[in-house]
Amino acid sequence: MVAQESQRLHIVFFPLMAAGHMIPILDMAKVFATHHVKATIVTTPYNAPTFTRPLESYKNIGPPIDVEVIPFDTKEAGFPEGVENFEQFTSDEMTLRFLKAIDVLQESLEKVIEKYKPNCLVADMLFPFATDVAAKFNIPRLVFHGTNYFSQCLMDSLIKYEPYKQVLSDEEEFVVPHFPHEIKFKPSQLHTSMRGLGDKQINDEWMNIFVRAKDAEERSFGFIINSFYELEPDYAEYYKKVMGRRAWHIGPVSLCNHGKEAKFQRGKDSSINEHECLEWLDAKKPRSVVYISFGSLAEVSTLQLQEIAMGLEASNQDFIWVVRRNNYGNGEKEKNEWLPQEFEKRMEGKGLIIWGWAPQVLILDHEAIGAFVTHCGWNSTLESVSCGVPMVTWPVFAEQFYNEKLVTEILKIGVGVGAKQCNRVVEGTVKREDIKEAIRKVMVGEEALEIRNRAKKMKELAIRAFEDGGSSYSNLQSLINELSSYNA
Ligand code: UDP
Repeated sequence: MVAQESQRLHIVFFPLMAAGHMIPILDMAKVFATHHVKATIVTTPYNAPTFTRPLESYKNIGPPIDVEVIPFDTKEAGFPEGVENFEQFTSDEMTLRFLKAIDVLQESLEKVIEKYKPNCLVADMLFPFATDVAAKFNIPRLVFHGTNYFSQCLMDSLIKYEPYKQVLSDEEEFVVPHFPHEIKFKPSQLHTSMRGLGDKQINDEWMNIFVRAKDAEERSFGFIINSFYELEPDYAEYYKKVMGRRAWHIGPVSLCNHGKEAKFQRGKDSSINEHECLEWLDAKKPRSVVYISFGSLAEVSTLQLQEIAMGLEASNQDFIWVVRRNNYGNGEKEKNEWLPQEFEKRMEGKGLIIWGWAPQVLILDHEAIGAFVTHCGWNSTLESVSCGVPMVTWPVFAEQFYNEKLVTEILKIGVGVGAKQCNRVVEGTVKREDIKEAIRKVMVGEEALEIRNRAKKMKELAIRAFEDGGSSYSNLQSLINELSSYNA
């Protein structure tokens, strides 16, 4: 039975201003809305279209979701007007300045909560003030990290035991202590600030942000995770039992997008027409195309782009390659400066370059896709899992090196390309031969077949978890029940 509007549970979502956080939050809002929960998303002017555009077509197929736009003055922090998203930053210094400026949003958030009197606030980990706002109005605050259980558990162990201090060089491996699986890392795969390297002031500022976020997390109602139990059961348990956290996994939330239109319209406006993209894919044999993308933030140097082009050509596989214009100016306009001579001519019909933003889920979900060369952002990884697509893992920064371990060593649904350095810029260290080899390993031969079968099984488990009666579905139900009885 559908609840009366006045009795309906109402959740306000406040996502971080980055595609990798806004996209899953929009999906999450849709998931709650289809369970008769009223959902309102709070965002700033520059970021509003990320929600309002897809919601324009969604309103014809799903329950209404509101978007509340609050002003965001970043001028005082030294940014020109309209700089409101992580994709606009080119350095740690800018990111830190932005994260400090975010505090000014507290007042506007309070006004939104006062106006709507919702039952719960779901806010990103990097908004520590959200816990105080929720407390002021006596509602629970849930924390959204944008990642999985595994990475958060790994981070917890690294911080607690500092095993990277026990090795003598950046390239010497250490084992993650007291962990369900034997996972080895090199210090070079961890962020420099974690290891206390680099600029001291920047490290201290990161540390402050981290400590504030952790303190706010500890005072929160719990955590909401875009993952599913069967994907990482040991770590769902570790999170609760070892880390002592209350958490609800309700994913993969991208599975809420049924139909081509919803799969097409995610994040930004696509740089390719839906029909053109599908026509190209429809003409290909099942599992014959490699999809390659580095997400919304990672930068790829000219040298690396050249190696990728050559590696793709040498792999002799059909491909869709997403090239985002980045701070190196490596977009379509400059392609003559970096794309190997006559590359496009040679690859005609074999390769499709999407200059800008791709309809990723629509592509991954197409039967022609055989592998995904991914930077291991959590959304991309989980979307690949949900579509049963094996991966070539190429982590770049943030927690992506952790996600790689989950994919290659625990789930065994991908192979690593050999990325070594945790840095937002892919500098050109991965050579064409390695790219070719990794692609061929997941596309051709006996091992590829085994990987594909495991990926297929994981897709089935993902769908089952998300469906009525599945583990994520039941978790969502129990969260809704808990929120309904809070303050009742
Ligand atoms: N994405 C997309 N088209 C693109 C690039 C990215 O739709 O051309 C989406 C992708 O499907 C995912 C999100 O943007 O949902 C990127 O998040 P992820 O965590 O994978 O990486 P990040 O961009 O945060 O590094």
